[in-house]
Amino acid sequence: MHEMSLCESLIGVIEDQASVHDYKRVRTVFLEIGSLACVEPEALRFSFDLVTRGTLAEGAALEIIKVTPQAWCFACGRTVTVQQRFNPCPDCGGYRLRLTGGDSLQIKQLEVD
Ligand SMILES: [Zn+2]
Repeated sequence: MHEMSLCESLIGVIEDQASVHDYKRVRTVFLEIGSLACVEPEALRFSFDLVTRGTLAEGAALEIIKVTPQAWCFACGRTVTVQQRFNPCPDCGGYRLRLTGGDSLQIKQLEVD
């Protein structure tokens, strides 16, 4: 289950931030997940609860924000929204696209004490 290792690296980031910004407790983690990131939200919540035990994020709420994938279309010269990786451009039908977002997972915001 790769959600577990994702959560472990999240905690690493949160603890690094805690030492930089000097906070003692995390109440809410706002997490952006691209819909192409292959992450199962329920598995992620489960892993998050396990991994945060005994850390400053223990008992923190996990708010998942889904992000629609976006790609740069070379033909249109602008950013378009795609539903799936390797889909054509919705405007011109071309395949010269470069994915610019929606395939990753990142912390958007932390609510801390
Ligand atoms: Zn296009």
